[in-house]
Amino acid sequence: MQHIHDLIGVGFGPSNIALAIALEEKRHGAKPVDALFIERQPSFAWHPHMLLDQAHMQISFLKDLATLRNPTSRFTFINYLHESGRLPDFINLKSFFPSRHEFNDYLGWAARQFEASCAYGQEVFEVLPEKQGGEVSLLRVRSRGDDGRVQERLARNLVVSVGGTPNIPEGFRALRGDGRVFHSNSYLKDIARHGQAQRVAVIGAGQSAAEIFMDLQGRPNAPQVDLIMRARSIRPADDSAFVNEVFNVEFTDYVYSRPQDERAALLDEVSQTNYAVADLDLIQQIFKVFYDQKVARGNRLRMLRQHDVRAVRAASDGVHLQLFDQDAGRESSVRYDAVVLATGYMREHHKDLLRPLAPYLGDFSVDRYYRLAATPDFHPGIFLQGACEDSHGISDTLLSVTSVRTGEIGNALLAAMPRMRSSARSESTLAQI
Ligand code: FAD
Repeated sequence: MQHIHDLIGVGFGPSNIALAIALEEKRHGAKPVDALFIERQPSFAWHPHMLLDQAHMQISFLKDLATLRNPTSRFTFINYLHESGRLPDFINLKSFFPSRHEFNDYLGWAARQFEASCAYGQEVFEVLPEKQGGEVSLLRVRSRGDDGRVQERLARNLVVSVGGTPNIPEGFRALRGDGRVFHSNSYLKDIARHGQAQRVAVIGAGQSAAEIFMDLQGRPNAPQVDLIMRARSIRPADDSAFVNEVFNVEFTDYVYSRPQDERAALLDEVSQTNYAVADLDLIQQIFKVFYDQKVARGNRLRMLRQHDVRAVRAASDGVHLQLFDQDAGRESSVRYDAVVLATGYMREHHKDLLRPLAPYLGDFSVDRYYRLAATPDFHPGIFLQGACEDSHGISDTLLSVTSVRTGEIGNALLAAMPRMRSSARSESTLAQI
């Protein structure tokens, strides 16, 4: 008989690492939940191609994998610093915002403690219903390894935490695979292949666009860089204290309790905390770069505001962008050696993975505990992390509530476990919860 996992987690980024921690801490010495996480990367890495040297966190280190749920956890950022021998030095830094390199190291430190529960180098591509007596009692999770080999595993519950997928504007989709046009998601990898690029376009006006612009302008080969945006200027992320309350844990309850149209209006109202905005510090650095260029009477760097990309054409001499200057009402064509799309992410990947289950899942809506609603003949629990912004608010795609959210999902899983274990065919022994 095939082994049945209590839980399979798809992806092993911060969300599912935090879940592994929550489950570990909630068992209070009892038998562990039989959880397996499946991660497509060969080893843990947090947005590895955006680990830029100057980049730092946009969130306090206290919003780590555990502190808000359990400040006494051994998985806190502070304990990581302690174990790494850097706690006093970090205190002397006087910053709440570690570098992204350091936070990646922290996350990797936590992930390594669950090495035995994670299958790396495997991409989940579909989840099938497993029926018993006409009802769906289990899930069959299919993944493909780096060597192309397909593996199938059974689970009573699934937590899908796959993050975002690059949003490629329509005009650029035909150029996928061109190599000279790439998303910020793969920036460091792809720009390394274009080390000698002399003309680079960065499209976008958010944090990633701003970081990439700063990285490119300081490169030794001094490329010409155009930062192209529809907006009139780069706007600062509002992280002032009262506004920041929307990232508080209690705000999730508030958002969830509102009717759908109010939730949408709320999201819109607070979007300037996260979308198409950049850190004020970074904006000032960019302004200084342009100011220094004015002093030197240079023109290597341009900020093309209120510019629309009207058409894209790939040719042997480069990628040609047809740009429309909304202000001047003028169109121009510019040739680039590389184009970076800092155009954000979409959060629909879970629907692809769960497509074979769609007849049971209706409109993919979740309850307060992030569990997908299902038809009465569908018994496995499927939980979503990072895809519930519409119902749970703007913090859902960020780290803000991750530790608390995984505590809530952990409770829901643990509460459902004994019933599921006795009703589903199983070869594993009952864990005490
Ligand atoms: P992810 O970190 O995206 O992890 C998802 C994981 O799932 C990945 O490891 C991926 O390889 C894996 N995966 C995807 N599909 C599959 C599949 N089919 N099969 C197997 N594995 C799969 N948020 C903040 O709060 N503060 C910040 O400072 C901050 N900085 C950021 C910087 C960058 C450059 C980016 C892109 C985002 C940043 N974010 C930040 C937002 C970010 O979403 C969260 O920090 C966090 O990464 C969310 O964790 P996650 O586990 O939900 O998703």
